[in-house]
This record gives sequence, C-alpha cells and structure tokens, in this order.
Amino acid sequence: MALTDGFGRPHTTLRLGLTERCNLRCVYCMPAEGIPLTPTRAMLTTDEIERLARVLVGTGVDKVRLTGGEPLVRKDAVEVTERLGRLGLRSLALTTNGLLLEDRLPALRAAGLTDLTVSLDTLRADRFQEITRRPGLDTVLGALDTALGLGYAIDGPRSLKVNVVAMKGVNEDEAADFAAWAARAPIEVRFIEVMPFDGNGWDRTELVPWTTTRAAIEAVHGPLTPLDDAPSSTARTFTRPGWRGRVGFVASMTAPFCAGCTRLRITADGALKVCLFGARELSLRDALRSGATDAEVVALVTAALAGKAAAHAGMDVLAATDNRPMITIGG
Ligand code: SAM
Ligand code: SF4
Repeated sequence: MALTDGFGRPHTTLRLGLTERCNLRCVYCMPAEGIPLTPTRAMLTTDEIERLARVLVGTGVDKVRLTGGEPLVRKDAVEVTERLGRLGLRSLALTTNGLLLEDRLPALRAAGLTDLTVSLDTLRADRFQEITRRPGLDTVLGALDTALGLGYAIDGPRSLKVNVVAMKGVNEDEAADFAAWAARAPIEVRFIEVMPFDGNGWDRTELVPWTTTRAAIEAVHGPLTPLDDAPSSTARTFTRPGWRGRVGFVASMTAPFCAGCTRLRITADGALKVCLFGARELSLRDALRSGATDAEVVALVTAALAGKAAAHAGMDVLAATDNRPMITIGG
C-alpha cells in the first residue's frame, strides 16, 4: 500500500536531489554569482541516499527521479544510479542540463536509467549563452544525439524528453522550431511555464501561458491532436499525424496539476518536501544520523504527508513566499 496524503493521493514518485551545485547559471534558477552552498558534511552520503530510497520503495515508491542542482556534477552520480538501479524500480529517471551527459550515458544506461530528461531552452548558441550564462549548446545537442543512438526515445523501453522553460521575450519565438524537432525525432519536447523562486527575480510578465505556446506551434504546424495522459501526469501532451515525437505543456502556473500530485521530494541535504512550493520541510538526514529505524523514517514521512495541502497557492502569493532557490530543491 503506497503512502497517501490527507486527500487520498498515493505517493509513488520520489524526486531526489543529488547536489546543489551546477555548472550552469540559468537566469530563472540561479543568480549569476551562484548561491551559498551547504557544507559537504550536511549533504546526504551515497549510503544515506540508498537507504532512504530503499525505505521509500518499501512504502510503494516505484519511480525515482534524480535531479539537482546538476545531478551529474556529483562525482558518484553513476554509482548512485547503479545502487538505485538494484531496487527494482519501475522507472529510474534523470533530469540533467546535458553538459556532462554524453560520456556517462552508456554507464547510466547499464545502471538501469530508464527515463532521461534533458533541459534545453534554446536551439541558438548565442541565446544559450544568454540564458545559462555559459557556452555549451553543441555539447548538449551531441548528448541528445547519443541518447537517441542508445535507444532513448518516446514510447520505447527508455524515454527521452527535452524540457524548455518558456520565457516571454527570451525564447518564446522558438516554440515552432522545437515542435519541428519533435516532428522529425522521437522525442517529447515539454514547454514549462516559468515559476517564481527565491533569487530568480521572477516577474509575471515573463510568463508565457501554455495556451500561447500551443497557439504559436499551431500557427506554423497546424492543429495539435491531444494524447491520453495519465491522471498523475504533469504535462498535457499533443502530436500531429506523421510526427515521430510529440510536444507537452507543463502549466504549473496557469493550470496547476496539484490534484494528481504523487510526488515526494528529498533535497541533496536530506530535507523532505511534500510540495515543491511549500516552505515546510523535515530533515530526514538528521533523523538518520540520530539513529532512526526504517519504521521511524516511514512514520516521519507519513506524518509530513498528512500535512500536505490540497493545492499550492496562486501566482502572486508564490512570488512573495520565502522558499529555497529552485537549485536546492530540484525542479
Ligand atoms: N540541472 C538540471 C536541469 O537543468 O535539468 C536539473 C535540475 S533543474 C532545477 C530541473 C528543471 O527545473 C529544469 O528542467 C529546469 O529548466 C527547471 N526549472 C528551473 N528553474 C525553473 C523555474 N523558475 N521555472 C520553471 N522551471 C524551472
Ligand atoms: Fe543549473 Fe538546472 Fe538550475 Fe540551470 S536549471 S541553473 S542547469 S540547476
């Protein structure tokens, strides 16, 4: 029986932050100078990560997504993947900016990585530099080619998605170009509405509602056909006759998907967050280090879930709420 919250939502997905560090400085996620990092001793060790994952798998979690910061900046990211790959998960997923991916992908695949998401907000090299404050477009595109070559693709045993954060006046004019890529390659391109977080100077004028992105794509490619999405899916997905791939829209701001939320998050320093937007957290690291048994860890998670809200607040409240920077929560 999976852990459920007060609204009967079974929590079967775990997002696990492997590090707060990152080799990019995306404008919507990180200040140019970076953020003060938590000392290494406060970070979960590989053994602690494995133990927490194993305990939660025992409660019904069957999907783990590795995130960050940039998860591949963690030196033992492949080892963590190998250890989690032995837990019998239905899905072991990674969200990465792709810069360090190409060399590691064969080992990650062998370790059991089933679902790969690469974040890429532009197909233009100068814009890549503006958005991420670092060069690297060709490296990311090379990694995506390698992923396709290794069998990551939609509707296969190993999935492949590209995350695009849609920003007004920055990359909104590329929606149709990204859709053209989804037409010719077996990938899912997901457009994400930019979300407010501490330190990213979010202003609601930067938001591109998903309906606007959809209209921009349809103006060039013609009407999109909706696909059947799982109730817990964060995205609405669409395709067109003859397309090899599809597009998806994550409307976290204009049409939140809280009702189907099945996600737990553990940050790289071991804090459990039951909602991406909730400031409330509980240190599972401290619990482990003070000798908690597996059953006590489950009891802590159960109690935290009992306090999970039905839905997160509206846009303006979120923009004014203190929360961790996205980079320390894990997207
Ligand atoms: N570094 C990895 C990456 O970029 O894929 C993993 C961590 S990143 C925080 C996870 C996802 O969150 C990325 O797809 C990123 O684009 C997205 N993200 C970060 N800040 C965001 C924001 N303010 N609004 C919407 N999406 C955001
Ligand atoms: Fe780094 Fe990912 Fe945040 Fe960009 S979105 S700064 S790649 S953690």
